[in-house]
Amino acid sequence: MICIRLFDLHCDTLTIGFDNHCSIYGNDGAVDLRRGRVFAPWVQAFAAFIPDNLRGKAAERHCIALLDTAKRWESENPDDFRIIRHSQDLLQDEHSCHALLTGENIGAVGDITVLDRLRARQMRVATLTWNGDNPWGSGCFGSADGLTTLGICAIERMQKLGMVVDVSHLNIAGFWDVARRMKCPFIASHSNSAAIMPHHRNLTDDQFRAVRDSGGIVGINLYHAHLGIPFGGDYFKAFFCHLTHFLSLDGENTVCIGTDFDGMELPSIFGGMTVLRRLYDDLLARGLDAALLDKVFYTNAYRFFSKQIA
Ligand SMILES: [Zn+2]
Repeated sequence: MICIRLFDLHCDTLTIGFDNHCSIYGNDGAVDLRRGRVFAPWVQAFAAFIPDNLRGKAAERHCIALLDTAKRWESENPDDFRIIRHSQDLLQDEHSCHALLTGENIGAVGDITVLDRLRARQMRVATLTWNGDNPWGSGCFGSADGLTTLGICAIERMQKLGMVVDVSHLNIAGFWDVARRMKCPFIASHSNSAAIMPHHRNLTDDQFRAVRDSGGIVGINLYHAHLGIPFGGDYFKAFFCHLTHFLSLDGENTVCIGTDFDGMELPSIFGGMTVLRRLYDDLLARGLDAALLDKVFYTNAYRFFSKQIA
């Protein structure tokens, strides 16, 4: 089988790695080095996710424990798992997992100086909220308010630190607060099309265009509720609909993969991340060409991050 190139903008495998003390070489989740061998090069974003019931120092400690899990994996697999520290780390060895460290719900900490500490630990991207409200703003299932004053300071600080603002999980008001204020490109790491499936987590066409026009990227995820199908339904056809809709919005250089592996349940027959190889073949069979699919699966995200990471 010919390897394909993969850059996945979001997974929650750090959470199971920390909770179950599992290995990244092989595990019961969706992402591991054994299954990742069919992708070369392979860049994987690993999110340090803070649950909405943690706040302040407890939230920060949890986030750092997850980032330390990535360091443990690196020390256990020095040839095959490498945390991205510089732009040249994106492409050093084709047969290893290049781990991009990201954060989810960092506003749960409150104090914006946390951004400096997380940046020093190689975090490159972060969402401000998860689904609920936190001291920086409101998630897509929280109140209708936008960013708080602290949240506005946080996005300014992120731009100074060279951390990418990720709008996935924000509510509509918070999204536009970010879009209006950003001088740097911003991303939606794992959000689908609301025109195909109206869901609070998905992006309207105007939101997609705003991310695109900033120079940012959008990752389509594989969660059935965001795709708009029942669990076990036709994931490939639904993915094709979201993808072609974003492509119809001049999204050829914007749309990416942001699976949300280990952040949601997938049918076990998919075998976790190996499903992406089948998804790629299915999209080819539906008439999308290999050059376009290479942009979606890899190059759009690679180009974006090779500029963002110094
Ligand atoms: Zn998420």
